[in-house]
Amino acid sequence: MTTQDTIFSKIIRKEIPADIVYEDELALAFRDIHPQAPVHILVIPKKPIPKLADAEPEDHKILGHLLMIVKRVAQEAGLDNGYRVVINTGEDGGQTVYHLHLHILGGRQMAWPPG
Ligand code: 5GP
Repeated sequence: MTTQDTIFSKIIRKEIPADIVYEDELALAFRDIHPQAPVHILVIPKKPIPKLADAEPEDHKILGHLLMIVKRVAQEAGLDNGYRVVINTGEDGGQTVYHLHLHILGGRQMAWPPG
């Protein structure tokens, strides 16, 4: 176990189960275990970037790749009427798992401002 080893690293290594909806060599998407909307999917890089604030210039390609996966996964989940993409970053951002992840939330009308 390294400092970068989180529950998401274990999901990437298939050491714990997850409802995986997309996978390629760089990224993984799976359903959130505590869904906050009818559709709640997490998209993560396989590279263990702890949080967005830790991303390096060299990560720009993977960050763009994650957004394109969001688009694809949302489409496949039938979110034709829209959805929300959230990246909680650090303590004030409400992040609880320190492996960068994008939340896709959909299937209901989202409120603004968020809590
Ligand atoms: P954060 O609060 O860091 O932005 O989001 C972490 C998310 O990971 C939460 O929505 C939480 O429900 C989800 N989560 C935490 N542990 C697990 C797990 O073991 N499996 C899955 N599928 N989701 C998890």
